[in-house]
Amino acid sequence: MDRNSAWKTFYAEQEAALRKGEQIAEAYEFRAPPVDPFRLLKAERKLIHAVGEDFGDAFDGRIRYVGNRFLLCFNTKYNSWRHSGTHHSRVLFSIAHELGHYFLDRHRKCLVTNRRPHDSFSEFTAHSLIETEADHFAAGLLMPSYLVRKNVNRENFPKIDNILEVRRQFDVSLTGLLARWTQLSDFPCATVATYQGIIQFGWVSEPLRNQGCYRVRRGHAPECRYFKRFLGQNDPVSKYAQGDGGGSTDYWLDWENRSLDTAEMYFAIPHSGYVWAFLMCDEADLSDDRFD
Ligand SMILES: [Zn+2]
Repeated sequence: MDRNSAWKTFYAEQEAALRKGEQIAEAYEFRAPPVDPFRLLKAERKLIHAVGEDFGDAFDGRIRYVGNRFLLCFNTKYNSWRHSGTHHSRVLFSIAHELGHYFLDRHRKCLVTNRRPHDSFSEFTAHSLIETEADHFAAGLLMPSYLVRKNVNRENFPKIDNILEVRRQFDVSLTGLLARWTQLSDFPCATVATYQGIIQFGWVSEPLRNQGCYRVRRGHAPECRYFKRFLGQNDPVSKYAQGDGGGSTDYWLDWENRSLDTAEMYFAIPHSGYVWAFLMCDEADLSDDRFD
């Protein structure tokens, strides 16, 4: 397989895993957020025995096939972090990830055949295809498009509070939501992850991709003054902070010969040290005639 088709397969598999997560949410009749993975554990209790404990740094989640059922362990250590529900969203994500290994046919077959435990570290940090697939399953399950999309596409310029409210409703991590938001948005927007002022990775929404903008400027230090001021107030990231500003796609996105003004939000996440930027462009600016 050449490199290009290998990547295509990789993305197609991720996409399929995400769809499967959405289908499971639908099949188990989640009609409003949040999609609670504990409800799934309960529904599958004949086949899954679930154990939650503080497993320290051993793993975030683990699943193995023992006897004639699955033993699913999830690490509750993140519950010592500030959270609103019974469990921290990171614990819920870990369970959803393990459920991916259970519901995705190829993963389940693997577990049943080799009977070895599978340890997982989430979220979005592991790189093997199996882990990426389970993460995508979890994102699809916890944030199915049929529940999230209408929240995302209400307005071109949502406020920080709108995003935090959706996050609260779905009980997911802010960064997981921003990634999903960008995927499902019908508006030109992007989510960019930065570490120590440098762009690490990110995603752009479909309306931008349709205009030839596919990538963030990896390795670049955005010159945006609002962003720099935000960084300067909390450097290195020691506490959660949020803020807003504005600038241009030039600072953030790889887009040949084209640039648009941006309204921006910034979120500093203390446990990872990442600062996330959410960029919004005006939909009206896209209908520029330069590309006709
Ligand atoms: Zn895993």
